[in-house]
Amino acid sequence: MKRLTILGSTGSIGQSTLSIVEQFPDRFSVAALAAGRNVEAAFAQAVRWRPQLVSLATEELADQFTARLKAAGITEVQVTYGTNGTVACATLPAADFVVSAIVGVSGLEATYAAILAGKPVGLANKECMVAAGEILTRVARERNVPILPIDSEHNAVHQCLRVGARNEVKTIWLTASGGPFRQLPVEQFDAITPEQALKHPTWVMGRRITIDSATLLNKGLEVIEACRLFDVRPSQVRVTVHAQSTIHSLVEFIDGSILAQISVTDMRLPILYALAYPERPESTLTFDLAALRRLDFEEPDFGRFPCLRLAFEAADIGGAHTIALNAADEVAVEAFLDRKIPFTGIPRTIEQVLTLTPEAHPETIAEVLAADQKARQTARKLVTRTGQGNQAS
Ligand code: MG
Repeated sequence: MKRLTILGSTGSIGQSTLSIVEQFPDRFSVAALAAGRNVEAAFAQAVRWRPQLVSLATEELADQFTARLKAAGITEVQVTYGTNGTVACATLPAADFVVSAIVGVSGLEATYAAILAGKPVGLANKECMVAAGEILTRVARERNVPILPIDSEHNAVHQCLRVGARNEVKTIWLTASGGPFRQLPVEQFDAITPEQALKHPTWVMGRRITIDSATLLNKGLEVIEACRLFDVRPSQVRVTVHAQSTIHSLVEFIDGSILAQISVTDMRLPILYALAYPERPESTLTFDLAALRRLDFEEPDFGRFPCLRLAFEAADIGGAHTIALNAADEVAVEAFLDRKIPFTGIPRTIEQVLTLTPEAHPETIAEVLAADQKARQTARKLVTRTGQGNQAS
């Protein structure tokens, strides 16, 4: 029986993880839940799963939550809050495995703490790897703690890598859907509205990641994530636009063989893989091979999608540059959704922040978070300045 801590339990990955626990009661149970701000959803989860520990975002929410537990006569669930609370969930002695699914760098400290405590991590939070992957993977290797990727592409790569030795890997191919603007003339990019950009062709996801898929910045973050998770150079990672999103990624070996992973586009599959690794439990997630008519691949257009170029450049430099790439993008996407900058202002803002970012390699999580804050401040100043008199419609 694997006892799980789920960081980000009320988000989409958290909920999918709990649906896996529901389906495999003999394999998995819930030790702790870090739930954030959604007291209603967290309460329902606590009632259903009776974890030892639940963490909410703030003391006030934790008090509300405690009162509700008391009213319901539930006494065995302990309640905590804030970053310390999330860390307490991640390091709980009763937990055997930590699912890291808090969006953004706020999940970073707890993910680091889980690795330090020797807990295998199922990683759904790519910002962790982009901001602090150099530190996290070093500590994980030193302590022999597995990090199992839940991001569908990296999960696919992890599966393909099992058939060959690391020095036999030539290229990791990450597939990209190409987003909704794959064929839009580049002159029309300035006029793209948030509503258009929020429509993703194949996956239903959160707002930031949907915009990141439209700019291909998400794929750029995944390139960086791949370099760190699999210990390869940026030049060994390539992106191919594969509109069907059927192949989740591929590994090309030095003898010319290419292995691909195909499955339904359902996050429960990579979650189950990570939770059960190295075993493969039987699941109900089947892929209809007969329904597969064709597989298309094309080179990504770096001119149309400058975010992808910026990500490769940041990956080459590493350290503060990958932190700044992620932080600047988050600020720029927010500004785009608030109609303060146009769609093309997203890569412009990131590029400007990167130009202002010194080459540095943070050694601690505190230094990573400081670099992250600094890049955010720079980005905020830039989008405010751009926003004046340059409003998108
Ligand atoms: Mg992905």
